[in-house]
Amino acid sequence: MTSTQGPGRSSGFGDGTAAAHAGLPEPQPGQPFLPGPVFAAPYHLDPESGPSAAANGYGRVDNPTWRALEAAIGGLEGGDCVVFSSGMAAISAALLTHLAPGDTLVMPSDGYYKARALAARLPGVTVREVPTAGPYPPFDEVRMVLLETPANPGLDVCDIAELSAAAHAAGALLAVDSTTATPLGQRPLELGADLVVASGTKALTGHSDVLLGYAVAAPELAGRLRAWRDDTGGVPGPFEAWLAHRSLSTLDLRLGRQSANAAAIARLLSGRPEVLSVRWPGLPGDPAHEVASRQMRRIPGVVTFTLPDAAHATRFLNAAKLIYAATSFGGTHTSADRRAQWGDPVPEGLIRLSCGIEDTEDLLLDIDAALNEARGAAAG
Ligand SMILES: *Cc1c(COP(=O)(O)O)cnc(C)c1O
Repeated sequence: MTSTQGPGRSSGFGDGTAAAHAGLPEPQPGQPFLPGPVFAAPYHLDPESGPSAAANGYGRVDNPTWRALEAAIGGLEGGDCVVFSSGMAAISAALLTHLAPGDTLVMPSDGYYKARALAARLPGVTVREVPTAGPYPPFDEVRMVLLETPANPGLDVCDIAELSAAAHAAGALLAVDSTTATPLGQRPLELGADLVVASGTKALTGHSDVLLGYAVAAPELAGRLRAWRDDTGGVPGPFEAWLAHRSLSTLDLRLGRQSANAAAIARLLSGRPEVLSVRWPGLPGDPAHEVASRQMRRIPGVVTFTLPDAAHATRFLNAAKLIYAATSFGGTHTSADRRAQWGDPVPEGLIRLSCGIEDTEDLLLDIDAALNEARGAAAG
């Protein structure tokens, strides 16, 4: 039920080694460590036997740059990976290849808002929204369960192994949006999930410079998603795929610093009276702490906290010098997003803070000063 083997461990390596070597070809004298992106739409074909003679025929179907990235992510997640143009392209592929009119989908009420918006538009599909922390209804008559853990922005966590077993007992397929965790944070397939979907735009690539998504599953299911990608065309460009692969080598380092920063910031925020709530699954006492400690191999660098109102939150964001106001998360630069402005059903003063890789002490000083300034203005 608990994952004891982490990514890369199965091949005998630690996370840093696994991430740095993920998907790299065998060394060849005179060749780069990671081959550059292959820019081609059509490739030369064998005039007689056509596309069956060689791997590459047409760029929408397959290309060598994706194959390298898919080998990398698939190795870290422990399954067959299919890369997409964005996280939403991966999620829509997962939903649209499995759900037909009359089907029922269970998904988080506190999950990524665009996924919920998409599900609500699927003709004839009944959507049951459940908070990530539960309680979950029986899965009888359910075709598919989509979890998001940790959920975004509330950072609740659910038990993947327990819910996978319940879904399978009811004949349902279980998918996990694992964006916030990344494959170094948890490996849902090992915990019993049928499918992982994720945005590679966030911590996986982590430099705030690429949009990407992926799905990982056993080969048969992955093959259906690959066919769907070809049919619908939600493909990443080769440059984006290469950039993502290049960024993977620092994943362990980035997550380590982000998580350490989150731990220190969560502690600071917890001691401030104007902070109405702090959520970080690594905090002892956090409602998600117990299940996250059991299930996750590391806690993400995202902290969610609530200031009294929108004006207070805005004063804080204006006062902080090291925090960029931005949506998205998981990048090397600390950023923050007041989620109510996007329509998330959360308090007006709720901020999702994504810790970057800056020095912990600098961030603590900046946040402390910004909190003081925001509160001073409220008092005055
Ligand atoms: C950002 C995000 C997505 C969507 O990813 P894109 O790459 O922006 O399409 C899906 N799920 C979660 C949890 C996300 O945070």
